[in-house]
Order: sequence, then C-alpha cells, then structure tokens
Amino acid sequence: MTSLQDSLGRLDAYLGSVRTDGVLNLIGGKSSEAASGAVFQSVSPVDGSVICEVAKGGAEDIDAAAKAAKEAFPAWRDLPNAERRSLLHRIADRIEERAEEIALCESWDTGQAIRFMSKAALRGAENFRFFADRAPAARDGQMLPSWTLMNITTRVPIGPVGIITPWNTPFMLSTWKIAPALAAGCTVVHKPAELSPVTARILADIAHEAGLPPGVWNVVNGYGEDAGRALTEHSDIKAIAFVGESRTGSAIMRQGADTLKRVHFELGGKNPVVVFEDADLDRALDAAVFMIYSLNGERCTSSSRLLVQSGIAEEFTARLVERVNAIRIGHPLDPATEVGPLIHWDHLRKVTSYFDVALQEGATIAAGGERIGEQGCYVRPTLFTGARADMRIAQEEIFGPVLTVIPFDTEEEALEIANGVAFGLAGYVWTNDLTRALRFTDRLEAGMIWVNSENVRHLPTPFGGVKASGIGRDGGDWSFEFYMEQKHIGFALGKHHIPQLGKPH
Ligand code: NAD
Repeated sequence: MTSLQDSLGRLDAYLGSVRTDGVLNLIGGKSSEAASGAVFQSVSPVDGSVICEVAKGGAEDIDAAAKAAKEAFPAWRDLPNAERRSLLHRIADRIEERAEEIALCESWDTGQAIRFMSKAALRGAENFRFFADRAPAARDGQMLPSWTLMNITTRVPIGPVGIITPWNTPFMLSTWKIAPALAAGCTVVHKPAELSPVTARILADIAHEAGLPPGVWNVVNGYGEDAGRALTEHSDIKAIAFVGESRTGSAIMRQGADTLKRVHFELGGKNPVVVFEDADLDRALDAAVFMIYSLNGERCTSSSRLLVQSGIAEEFTARLVERVNAIRIGHPLDPATEVGPLIHWDHLRKVTSYFDVALQEGATIAAGGERIGEQGCYVRPTLFTGARADMRIAQEEIFGPVLTVIPFDTEEEALEIANGVAFGLAGYVWTNDLTRALRFTDRLEAGMIWVNSENVRHLPTPFGGVKASGIGRDGGDWSFEFYMEQKHIGFALGKHHIPQLGKPH
C-alpha cells in the first residue's frame, strides 16, 4: 500500500480535469451542463475543501435523459447477447485498470477509508463480470405444455429505467444496480447522490470508452427533491431501482404512483448481531466490531445492535470497549486508517445527536461519544451500553460508527428484541448449537442472515430486506426479475374446441 503522501499526490493528478471542468451530466453520450446552468459544490468531509462543481440537473435535464434512454432502448434491447456480454466485460476491464483512481476519488469524496475503497472498485468490476456472464441467458424461459397448448415463457427488458443511489459506497452500489439493468437489455438514467458525485461520472465515462452506445447510460446529477423526483415521475421511465433511506423510499412510491412505476427498494437497517453463550466468542467479537465500525458504520448491513446473552455480557462488553477504543481513526487516504470522517456536517450532527439521546434515555456511553477536531467530520467510534430495546438508540438507524449493546437472558427474549424494530435487512447469529441456529434463523425477521459469520457477499444469493428495509431482491437471477417482464405465449397444438358465440344452433 502506498503512503498517505503518495496517495495525496496521485489524487491531485486524478482530480485535475474534474477540478477544471466540474462534474457534468451525461445525456445521449454528450457531456452537458444543467439546462438551468445551475451548479452545486462537492466538498470533501476530510477538511471541507471544495472538490469540484457539479451540474445541478432538474426536470428538464431528466426529460432529455429519459428521451435519450427511450431512443437508445430498441437497439440496445436487440443487441446480440454475445456482444452485450463482451461489452460488459470490457467495462469491467477498464474499471480494474482505473481501480486506484476510483478508490482515491471515492475516499476523498466520501471519507471512507482507502483500505475498504480499494476493494470497492474491484467489487464493482466483479459485479459487471457476474451479470455479463448471465446476460446471454437472461431471456430464457420455461416450456409449460398443456393438453391443448404449447405454452412458453420468455423475458423481455422492461424499457428505460431510473436508478437512484446513495452516498455511502456510491461506486460499488452504482455498479450493483446498473450492471444487471444493462445486462437485462434496459437503458438507464442514473441519478447519483448529491453528496458523492465524482465516481459516478468516472464510471459512466469508462462505459463509453469501452464502447457503450450513446443514450444507453445517462447520468443526471442533482438533488433528490428535484432531479430525483422528476426521474421517478417521468412517464418514459418504466421502473425505479432505489437504494437509500426508508422514508425516501415511501416518497418515491408516492411520486411514482401516477405513472404506475415498478419499484425496487434497498433501504435502511437496524441489524442485530445476536451472541449466545456457547458461541466462538473471539470470532464473534471480531465480526461484531468489523460489521459496525468498518465503512464508518455508514453501511446498510452494519450490525448496529449487539444482543449478548447475560452470562457473557460483562466480559464480552469489556473486551469490546478495549477494541473500540483501539480503532484507528484518521485521514481516509492513510492506509492505516480504519475509520475516516463521516460523509457531511449534516450527517455528523445527526450521528452526534444520538450521544445526547443515549444519555437522556439513561444508557451509558462506554466508549467514544465525541467529535474529534473542528475541521473534518470525524467522530470517535462509540459504544452504548445499559440500553433497553425500546430506546431510540436501539430502534433508529444512526448510520455511523455507533453500536448499542442490549443484554438478553433467553432465546425467546433475544428473538423478541431482534424482531422488535421497524427494519428487517440483515441479521447475524453466533451460536454453536445447530438446532438453535435453525430455529432462530427461521423466525428472525430479516432478508439476509449469516450464522457464525460476518456479511460475506456471494453474488448469486438474494440481497434485500423485509419490513421497512426494502422491497425486492438483487443478485443472481433476482435482478433480472426486476428489470425484465415475463411474457407467456401459447401455441395451439391442434384444433381444440373454441366456444362459439353468436353462431346459429
Ligand atoms: P437518501 O434516501 O437520503 O438518498 C438516496 C438517494 O435518493 C440520493 O441520490 C438522493 O438524492 C435521492 N432522493 C432523495 N429524495 C428523493 C426524492 N424525493 N425522490 C427521488 N430521489 C430522492 O439516502 P442516503 O442518506 O443517501 O443514504 C443512506 C441510506 O441508504 C441509509 O438509510 C442506508 O441504510 C441506505 N442504504 C441501503 C442499502 C441497502 O442495500 N439496503 C445500501 C446502502 C445504503
């Protein structure tokens, strides 16, 4: 790994053109300013310095992008599968070639530590390869013969789709949503998060350099209530794939109602990690710490509630405090850094406000609980103990490096606490009792559960949440189910009886 000084020098070179030209929209293969001429600034959470200006797109830009996506759709839909597959692989090749640039820009724009962001770029390439290889079979269907008909099914791409992404790991998440859409044969209008616009534009540029036809992938930057809303309301956009907060998901559902949008939501979480007395406690500790304090805790699948069985609670918590206090906080481009600055000052205010909430509710701040410095959005990794399941710190998504510890006595109690929140994205269970693991996971309300493991993503498995954590699944063939329409065609096998109306007896 290169040193912080090296990385800063390279970042400077990579950001050269972004600084001078700004981040423009990309519509119909052409870079453009917002129709209104408006811009906003992207600012680094490290020190508040301006990274670049960004086109502030609105309804007019969304309309132009949706029209470009509609025009490009028939040719992209009808592209031979082998060509689609190799084009998507070419995009993956170029992501790998520019992985360092992507990682450095992403760290600087979001505050996420480089040790995690360098992998995010490669994960993005992997997403493209995975769906590239599945593209040729995307339209495959079934044969469901009856006595009279040969029934077949096939899948066709739904049309131009809108993709709206958040700021926490913007590059990886954009590839996660856009790669399957393209592989399915859809064209795309992407609205990246306003707080982290830089790598979305690099990604779209990579795709065009790899030979993607103009209009297939359009990018409109701007604010959620403005460009985002217009995208969800546009009649040429057939579906919205959204990753973000649960309440934004509700708003999008309302906004898309008039045009009957199909929606796919990957939303918030308040995920439990449940540690039973019989678990491998060393591994459970490693996993619990990793799942909440990596990626600054700005991670939808973070294990933000630790449910620990009473008999081991005291010792486990003491070990946890030691580990949390030892986490290395620092500049996100420093390879030694484990936790960097939060994305933005508004988010810093939100996260730190929970320190007061915890104390008011009668919990204890066992580690952290304070901002670091005055300049950047740094906060000390924090641990709340003495919490009850009904407290706000145990119910609400804080989305920072903040863990709430709740002790429990019995399996039933653990299940009640685990399920007693609005969310249901992920769950982590630590026990060496196989029967209990089977029983517990069966009743745990979550879209994804790992037993004796941290979150280890395997792309063919379904990714998504229940309750307020989402609608729909990504991964494997599930992504294609969203981006494609099922079609049934029945061929008569002979001369079966057709009811004869209006015919004289
Ligand atoms: P957010 O909902 O504030 O914003 C996400 C995106 O939605 C942004 O691009 C924003 O501009 C846009 N947006 C906002 N209002 C809109 C509107 N009315 N219409 C259309 N678009 C609108 O979320 P965020 O703060 O950027 O991201 C953090 C959230 O994302 C957390 O809740 C986190 O759990 C969630 N998340 C979920 C997953 C998952 O897979 N379940 C993954 C990552 C993040």
